[in-house]
Amino acid sequence: MSGKLVVLTGPSGVGKGTIVHSLLNRYPDLYLSISATTRSPRAGEIHGKDYYFVNNEKFEEMIRQNQLLEWAQYAGNYYGTPRLNIEDKISKGFIVLLEIEVAGAKTIKKTFSNVLRIFILPPSLTELENRLRGRATDSEQAIKKRLKLAKEELAVSQEFDKVIINSNLEKTLEQLELIIFSA
Ligand code: 5GP
Repeated sequence: MSGKLVVLTGPSGVGKGTIVHSLLNRYPDLYLSISATTRSPRAGEIHGKDYYFVNNEKFEEMIRQNQLLEWAQYAGNYYGTPRLNIEDKISKGFIVLLEIEVAGAKTIKKTFSNVLRIFILPPSLTELENRLRGRATDSEQAIKKRLKLAKEELAVSQEFDKVIINSNLEKTLEQLELIIFSA
């Protein structure tokens, strides 16, 4: 199998994390890139597994040293994809997955032209709000911020290579498998 870079994007709460982890369980040739962030760890999150949790100073140094394939500020924190590993994994035949927010997914095309970018839509904004609240990991203020950002993010979904509505996990996975493994 030949390697490639696949970006999954869409608003926070749309189910990107669940989708990515279901794909990883099924396909050992997929490799999930671990992002760096300045956000504080949520309960149960582990440094080096969920994210590389770094401070602002360190993140800005990574930007200056061109160590990130893409980065963005989201809800008051930095998030970015470390360059290290990705090109190597692709050349070894892995399909590398990035699970990132929309601004970074838009800019990655500039640093990595051969990328497949898939936008995941919620069935509705009400459903997205229910999912964000159902997670119960974020404060009311953070949820409101994420919902406001989601409305802006949804407006640009048509700029991406493929758009999928995530109303049913199994169906979403089937569609993604077709897109990822045939493209
Ligand atoms: P969370 O704080 O819920 O873990 O992530 C917030 C948002 O940041 C999510 O939409 C997630 O996909 C996105 N994100 C995670 N890692 C990265 C990254 O490396 N780059 C960008 N641009 N967004 C990321």
